[in-house]
Amino acid sequence: MKEQKYPLTWKKKDFSIKIFCSIPNIATGILIKAGEANFVVDPGDGILRDLNSEEGTKQILKISDIFITHGHHDHVGGVWSLLTYLRVMRKRSPLTIHYPKGCVEIESIYNAFEHVYLDTIPYKITLRRIEDVKSFNSKNVTIKPFPVIHKEFLNDGSKRQVPAIGYKFTYDNKKICYGGDTAYCDTLVRHAKNADLAIIEAGHEDDEPDDMHMTLKEAKSIGKTAKEYFLVHVPE
Ligand SMILES: [Zn+2]
Repeated sequence: MKEQKYPLTWKKKDFSIKIFCSIPNIATGILIKAGEANFVVDPGDGILRDLNSEEGTKQILKISDIFITHGHHDHVGGVWSLLTYLRVMRKRSPLTIHYPKGCVEIESIYNAFEHVYLDTIPYKITLRRIEDVKSFNSKNVTIKPFPVIHKEFLNDGSKRQVPAIGYKFTYDNKKICYGGDTAYCDTLVRHAKNADLAIIEAGHEDDEPDDMHMTLKEAKSIGKTAKEYFLVHVPE
């Protein structure tokens, strides 16, 4: 998979996706367009640079929703720069940030942003905490969140589950499934199956499965159940 060239792109009529960069511990960044919808998913470091060079300011101002799978830095590192850029460029349309319940990173970034810029934010931001697996709609896209398994180390070497979800985006009868960072799990297996596109992480370095990321073999076995798939978050 080393020869993967970013951005990875996929398009079916007016439903498209661009994956700018997905390197474990460095950066993820995904743009989904579906009719009027302009979604950014997991804006990691470099998202502003990549969106500017690929799409331009006009398109960036149209971003309607940001979706966060979990709060690790390689998935949220670009949120601050995106929010402040949209302020400076005088975005007017509202922005909704969807994130899993318990993801304190997003709430903290948002609170700091609001605290710093208070009366000078020209657009309305809604934080939408996802607490269950109910589907919801935005801009004619149906979004189905699902829980995934993703852990992190504590100082004493033990691990804890982080608030982490994947998303399935359905538009015009086409489905894109993105698991975020996850170990092999039933929910992802179920949602990736028969999806038109599955974006599956394969961040685990060796062949022994664990509860943080998937091995290449695990990721491929899920990817193959979708009509097409991309492996992301692959160690370089
Ligand atoms: Zn992670």
